[in-house]
Amino acid sequence: MKSTYVVCENCGQVNKALIDSEKTPVCGSCKGNLAITEAIVKGSDSSLSKLIEKSPLPVVVDVWAAWCGPCRAFAPTFEAASKNFADRVVFVKLNSEENQKLPSNWGIRGIPTLLVFKNGKEIDRISGALPQPQFCEWLKNAIEKI
Ligand SMILES: [Zn+2]
Repeated sequence: MKSTYVVCENCGQVNKALIDSEKTPVCGSCKGNLAITEAIVKGSDSSLSKLIEKSPLPVVVDVWAAWCGPCRAFAPTFEAASKNFADRVVFVKLNSEENQKLPSNWGIRGIPTLLVFKNGKEIDRISGALPQPQFCEWLKNAIEKI
């Protein structure tokens, strides 16, 4: 089974979690539920910086909001890509209404914005609801730069 990385919101432990549609993975340290649905991690201001620094895989972040039509239109593309790139890239969605600190630190002006990080460093970013082939192409190029 394929896996991804997620930081526990409860205790801050970095977990390698199986991508499983049947059950929610739990934290190896505190046994709390991990904020992950299939291959997509739900990011937050409190845990995402740690994930970006500690993840052995590159991390792609989708900064979005529920009121944003293009963000909602892009969601199925991000979800499909999260399955295609499983075991190679960690996929995170960051709700910019619930989490305003990181988007502001990153200087995000419009959403959706996609950012790729490795070892805590931003590798690339792009804005707009890209069609599936363009998004996959952009992501592939971004992780090849690493
Ligand atoms: Zn935990």
